[in-house]
Amino acid sequence: MSSIKQNLKQITHRIDIAAKKSGKNADCVKLLAVSKTKPLDAIEEAILAGQKMFGENYVQEGISKIQYFKDTFPSLEWHFIGPIQSNKTHAIAEHFHWVHSIERKKIAQRLNEQRPRSYGPLQVLIQVNTSGENSKSGVNIEEAKLLAHYIDTCPNLMLRGLMCIPQPESNPEKQQDAFAPLASLFNEMRTHRPHFDTLSMGMSDDMEAAIASGSTLVRIGSAIFGHRD
Ligand SMILES: *Cc1c(COP(=O)(O)O)cnc(C)c1O
Repeated sequence: MSSIKQNLKQITHRIDIAAKKSGKNADCVKLLAVSKTKPLDAIEEAILAGQKMFGENYVQEGISKIQYFKDTFPSLEWHFIGPIQSNKTHAIAEHFHWVHSIERKKIAQRLNEQRPRSYGPLQVLIQVNTSGENSKSGVNIEEAKLLAHYIDTCPNLMLRGLMCIPQPESNPEKQQDAFAPLASLFNEMRTHRPHFDTLSMGMSDDMEAAIASGSTLVRIGSAIFGHRD
């Protein structure tokens, strides 16, 4: 068995255990394989092991991978999870299925305008910074609510939930403390939004804490593909 296939199996097992611990089914938590900087053959190994959802941080790199696999594996789902510059929105709107990192109204507006209508709405998440540090990406809780009301009015965007990237932290209790505010905002915001079902939190080193806090999608890179070069 290839090491990537083995790693995927292990991660799936970790998700399973973490979900059961908090009384949920493992299929409540989706696995996004973060393939940034990883070569095509590593991605192909993951695809052949059954992985369908991939996350990329850099627009050009992501698009060349999307195009490479498009004909052979048409059912893959590509998520853009990196910072968004406004001159890249057009390329993102035309190639990706999901965007996790919306943190400005202007970016939402451009994605909405530039999404080809025939593709159906782009599935989007708002990136929230719950640590209150200005240096970190993401909007605060009040800004997230305003941005959500704006996205609700965009016909070519479907607001699916929230995403966060907390500070690296090795203590699992502190990891959970960092996820808790996003989980409660998620529960508050979903009450009037039937499609609001995705809480994107948890990476290789904090996925158990994220799942215990209510994550529905973990973004895993190094634990699948090895450490980044
Ligand atoms: C790189 C990256 C990940 C994956 O991180 P690992 O620690 O390698 O699992 C998840 N989310 C985002 C936004 C990333 O940039």
